[in-house]
Amino acid sequence: MTDQPTPQYSPATLAVSAGRPPAGPGSAMNEPVWLTSTYGADGPYDYGRTGNPTWDAFETALGALEGGAALVYSAGMAAVAAAVSLVPDGGTVVAPTSAYTGTTALLREAAERGRLVLREVDLTDTDAVVALLPGAAMLIVETPTNPLLDVADLPGLLAAARQSGVLVVVDNTFATPLGQRPLEHGADVVVHSVTKYLSGHSDVILGATVTRDDEAGRALHERLRAHRRLSGSIAGPSEVWLALRGLRTLALRVERAQANATELARRLQEHPVVSRVRHPSLPQDPGHDRARKQMLGFGSIVAVEVGGDADRAERVAAGTRLWVHATSLGGVESTLERRRRHPLEPDDVPVDLLRLSVGVEDVEDLWADLDQALRGSDA
Ligand SMILES: *Cc1c(COP(=O)(O)O)cnc(C)c1O
Repeated sequence: MTDQPTPQYSPATLAVSAGRPPAGPGSAMNEPVWLTSTYGADGPYDYGRTGNPTWDAFETALGALEGGAALVYSAGMAAVAAAVSLVPDGGTVVAPTSAYTGTTALLREAAERGRLVLREVDLTDTDAVVALLPGAAMLIVETPTNPLLDVADLPGLLAAARQSGVLVVVDNTFATPLGQRPLEHGADVVVHSVTKYLSGHSDVILGATVTRDDEAGRALHERLRAHRRLSGSIAGPSEVWLALRGLRTLALRVERAQANATELARRLQEHPVVSRVRHPSLPQDPGHDRARKQMLGFGSIVAVEVGGDADRAERVAAGTRLWVHATSLGGVESTLERRRRHPLEPDDVPVDLLRLSVGVEDVEDLWADLDQALRGSDA
């Protein structure tokens, strides 16, 4: 069993200290990897699909950061699927037009076979979202939005959803609990792709849900836990151990990556090859004011457009040496990708948009490499 965190600590401290075994003479600093499928009868654990002390350590740490009770899963998509399982048959789900492509695919497939009714909406249009809420079972929120980096009015959406009795799921992968804590605003379920910032080293696929520590939240937690046990969407203990090791440095990584992203966004605006830069740190950005009001920091994803020319964007992605041309985000390594490569990416995403996941390397090295790739991108 792991130590309970002390809630008055700041998030940066909780990331380091929560979920450790109790300190004492000869105690281990870290919860070990419990590689076991079963446990002696009559103890706190019985079978490996039901519980594992390595999961508990990670869940205690993430729960402390989000301010709720966490469950870890085999992937972010397993966490999304678990959250969607809370929708009753035939219930209506209000979801962003430009959600994570896996979430969109999962919801559309479920809608096609009649499992649920799907209403897609631009999440930054608060009035349009609110108009769809009466009678809905679930609202799914992603903010900042991917990949256009606009910011939804999270407190406003949550207040409206509560009034309509709609369950709200917030995918907090982009912001991380250091950027926003949706449960504090009344969200019902936070989901994470732990694959991204929380683990932070591009070496595991994992997911998580977090629910509030009140009666309604605890009931959801038990339903989600049962879903994980019965669907078998459980995480390997070794991967969870790696994720917890990564989580320990979350504050350092996020702080450095955000500083790099803010500086690169500022410089990219002046670049002759670049036609538009999106990052909430930029004062003219659509999400700037809301980000300042409701988030801590502006995140480390930057979107860059290169004059409407998709081929040029591909040449930029192929022309970097330090930046890795790859999908995914949130690792210590900087990566970039033209998003419209993916058929599910909606039409409002420009064809020449490159999504940059800014890592923790030296900002001058990142800039020099990006600059040479942009300058060398003429046909
Ligand atoms: C990557 C991602 C997911 C899916 O997570 P996996 O770990 O790849 O299954 C869900 N939501 C967002 C916002 C993501 O970036």
